[in-house]
Amino acid sequence: MEYLSERREVLKTAQEISAAKMVTGTWGNVSRKADNQPLMLITPSGMNYGTMSIEDIVLVDYQGRVVEGKFKPSVESPLHAAIYCNRPDVGAVVHVHSTYATAFAVAGMSIPVILEETAQIVGHEIMTAPYAKCGSDDLAAMAVQTLGAGNAVLLANHGLIGVGKRTADALQVCYIAEKTAKVALLAKVLGGANTLSPEETKLLNENFRSYGQAKV
Ligand SMILES: [Zn+2]
Repeated sequence: MEYLSERREVLKTAQEISAAKMVTGTWGNVSRKADNQPLMLITPSGMNYGTMSIEDIVLVDYQGRVVEGKFKPSVESPLHAAIYCNRPDVGAVVHVHSTYATAFAVAGMSIPVILEETAQIVGHEIMTAPYAKCGSDDLAAMAVQTLGAGNAVLLANHGLIGVGKRTADALQVCYIAEKTAKVALLAKVLGGANTLSPEETKLLNENFRSYGQAKV
């Protein structure tokens, strides 16, 4: 079996999104690009994260064809593949249905840059891609378009996607997006959320990336 470290990364992150209640049941999915190959390791469709093992992670090409694995890959494989095809800098994709981020996706609203962490880790307002059915090529195309060069995108009436070099980076984007959505909603209750300006956001993001302990 190839790609052992990538398989471990995918499994560990899939179990973490479940333990952190970023998804319910078997929803959500995680993938990692196979280095130097147009292939990805992705969670299988509809399987319990608690009992999943590294051999259950499916190796597929960008057309969704299984290269290695005995299970069907995630139904969102076209979405993950479309991101890798359009973003050579991305090595991992995490998709969750966390409550507060999804509330913004349902309202069709962007998650604003209101925390320093949002500026540092995400680096931009998180926009909502127009609605398309889960697992469809339309969803993949619209998510890629709305994501652009960013690190996170909301899927209307559905959930959140975070991207990064490794699964831990993409997961961190999801955690910060979810926390930002929660704080934004609470601040709105208190009378309004003050956003950081694009200039402040850019500066925070650049400073964070240029220091030794930056994780993204
Ligand atoms: Zn989903």
